[in-house]
Order: sequence, then C-alpha cells, then structure tokens
Amino acid sequence: MELMEIGTEVFVKGKGRGILALNNEDGTWNVEFYDDGAEGDFYEEDLMPLEDLVRRWSPAGARVVPAPWTSPRPEGWTRFVCFSDTHGLHQLIPKDHMPPADVLLHAGDFTNTGELEQIESFNEWLEAYPAEQKLVIAGNHDITLQEDYYRSRGASRFHRGVPYDCSKARPLLKGCSYLEDTSVEVRGYQIYGSPWQPEFFDWAFNLPRGEELRQKWSAIPPDTDLLLVHGPPAGHVDMTSRAGRVGCQDLQEAVHQRSISVVVSGHLHSAYGTDADEVTLYVNASTCTEQYNPTHKPIVFDLPPAHELREATKKAALERKEGKLQL
Ligand code: MN
Ligand code: MN
Repeated sequence: MELMEIGTEVFVKGKGRGILALNNEDGTWNVEFYDDGAEGDFYEEDLMPLEDLVRRWSPAGARVVPAPWTSPRPEGWTRFVCFSDTHGLHQLIPKDHMPPADVLLHAGDFTNTGELEQIESFNEWLEAYPAEQKLVIAGNHDITLQEDYYRSRGASRFHRGVPYDCSKARPLLKGCSYLEDTSVEVRGYQIYGSPWQPEFFDWAFNLPRGEELRQKWSAIPPDTDLLLVHGPPAGHVDMTSRAGRVGCQDLQEAVHQRSISVVVSGHLHSAYGTDADEVTLYVNASTCTEQYNPTHKPIVFDLPPAHELREATKKAALERKEGKLQL
C-alpha cells in the first residue's frame, strides 16, 4: 500500500476510523482512533484510506462526483445534487455551483426565520433549477413551517408585533415535493424526509434526545433507500469546532437498524462534507459556511438503478450484522 503515509485517515476493518500514527515496518501500521483515544496495530490489508472509501465508491455503489460539470453520470444511473442551509441567500449561489441533475435535495434551513418572502423567492429559485425533481424538508430556522411552534412561541420570539400567517408557508413551496415525516418514490428509490433534530435553544422541529426522537425515527420505513434529514446522525459529518460531535445518536441507531444507502443532512455548517461507513454514504450539504456565506459547493452523487443499489446495500448491512465487514 504505497500511498499510505503517517497522518492518512483510514477505515480499519471491524474497528472504524482512525489515523495512521506509525509504520511498524513489518506489514502493520499503528492506528490511533478518533473518538475514544484507543490505538492498535493492523495489517495493511485491513486498512483502507478513508478518501478512497468516500470518493471512489461506497459498498452500496453510491458515487460522490467531485466535478459534476465534466463527469456525466453513467447510463441508467441517477444524479442527485444536494443543498442545505441556504438561509434565504439562494440568489447568491454562484451559477457554477448549480450543475444540472436528475434530483435536487434540500436538507432544510432554506430561510433565515421562516419569512414568507424568502420562501416565495426560494420556490422561484427551485423552479428555475435544472433538475427534474426537487425534494425539500424544513429545518429549525424554517419556523413558519411548524404551525404549533410558530403560534405558541416562534412568532413572539422572532417576529415581534407582525407575525406571518403561517398557514400560507407550505403552499408557497409549489416547485418541489415537501417531505415532513413522509416518503416519496423517485425513479424507484424510496426517499424519506424528516425535519426533526435534537433540541437547541427552542427552535422549530426541536425534540429532546432519547425517547421522543427515537419515536420519530421509528417511523422511518424499513425499505428506505435514501434519508433526507436536517441534522446529521452521531458520528458522521457532525463535527463542530466548539462542541465536538453533536449528531443525533438515536438517528444513528435507526440508520444502523435499516439498510439505508445514503443519508443527506445539513444543519451543522462546519461539518459540510461526505463520509461513509461499511453500508451508508453520509452527506452534510450545508451550503452556508459558519459565517453564513452560501459558498460551499453542492454535494453531487450518482446512484446505480434502485434494485442494484438496494441489493448491494442489503448485502453490506447483512455482512455488518454478521461481523463479516467487507471494504
Ligand atoms: Mn443552518
Ligand atoms: Mn439548522
């Protein structure tokens, strides 16, 4: 494994992710693991550079496309383009960050605080986007989309004096399928969307960690291929500079109990990027940076035909369950 050097991020078969700390020069490397400070020596054949795992393929065949303008999707595959956390700034997204795709996904926080003018303008942007189908969920900032929250607390907290008529919010999203704890089938893929996230200063679609979130995630249908959520699951694309990993543990358990090919999220702007485990590709598509500039490129991935994807993902999930991890 010529390309490996100290400092390379690797996936260790059966163990998880770590970093190469030392070449033992006997065919093994010393690996330090991220989360718990553990370390150990492993044979090269049990190591795979994380970059290879994420960029080239996931076991299920989902393929991240770093240069969508110049890499056409393979015949019979479907191209997804993912945005999130555009926060009312969609008009400032550069044109070269808007590659054509078959399906556009937006993982929530399309407004600053649910302003109806922003929803209307976002809908115009969506309608003009060169994608056949567009799927959108809300985030904690899209406060007019959660009527009971908005009426009881959101309006008085954020729109003092002149509240919006929040019954008008959802009908403004005409140019997309809006998912809220619902599924849609697109080109044979089962896609489930849900806006909920662990509570954080009493925003919309907040729930306490534990039982209440577990209940929401228990509604994810077992045949889901692609999950669109606002906040990421724990352990993947959920790193923050101030508080470490803050993703939802309950969501991660729900993902592990199923065979889901791709999880698309946003919410934690600092965790923009992609990651993978043995079964699932994880995307954090936050378009806005931590400073709320909409300059992150959308994340683009291609999926093989639905039946192929599902078969490969089920096989990988089964192997994980039986402890026969395959990289
Ligand atoms: Mn956000
Ligand atoms: Mn958010």
